[in-house]
Amino acid sequence: MILKQLFDHNTSTYTYLLADPVSKEAVIIDPVLEHFERDSKLLGELGLTLTFVLDTHVHADHITGSGKLRNTFGALSVVSSAAGVQCADISIEDGEVLHFGSYTLEARHTPGHTSGCVSFVVTTASQTLAFTGDTLLVRGTGRTDFQQGDPKELYHSIRHQLFTLPDNTVIYPGHDYKGHSTSTVGEEKMFNPRIRLEVKEDRFIEIMNGLNLANPKFMDVALPANLSCGAIAV
Ligand code: FE
Repeated sequence: MILKQLFDHNTSTYTYLLADPVSKEAVIIDPVLEHFERDSKLLGELGLTLTFVLDTHVHADHITGSGKLRNTFGALSVVSSAAGVQCADISIEDGEVLHFGSYTLEARHTPGHTSGCVSFVVTTASQTLAFTGDTLLVRGTGRTDFQQGDPKELYHSIRHQLFTLPDNTVIYPGHDYKGHSTSTVGEEKMFNPRIRLEVKEDRFIEIMNGLNLANPKFMDVALPANLSCGAIAV
């Protein structure tokens, strides 16, 4: 499988390009609008056909490139049915699958960071890959203090929808602020300071409710734009 991990330095956001090298069908997960040219060029260079553009949730810190990519390449945009994005082509449900070339991508409903978060799980012949958005980060988790965030829900999403995957499942997070790129389920079960196996639900909720984080800089622009598939109101 072709897999590219792309980064936006402004907001520390990861975008992923996945493709079948034989059929050339591709999907993009969590594109950032400002990187439309970079992503379009890469698709062209690799000779790929974009079939789906997926958002793991309605982002508060950057504007999605999904609408522009969909309109340009004729791909279908995908978000969780719980995200409230009316303009999406596919409102995906827990357990629903999408196909690109010979690969299957399964949606897992993982609310908690927002009420409409979804993780995408791809199984190849040798490995399972999980694109976790802001549900599970490397040695961290997404915040739970806005967009119907709920620490109890996040705890159960991670424990029951992600930590139940094989330990060698590779975690591809939606952001990283400390220089990490990927992890595995096994590593996070042992070393994630917030949600490793020995941290119980009550303690996790206490940790999340005590974070006291500032709101993202672009939140007032990003939220309405992302509910409109990345269209900016002028
Ligand atoms: Fe987020």
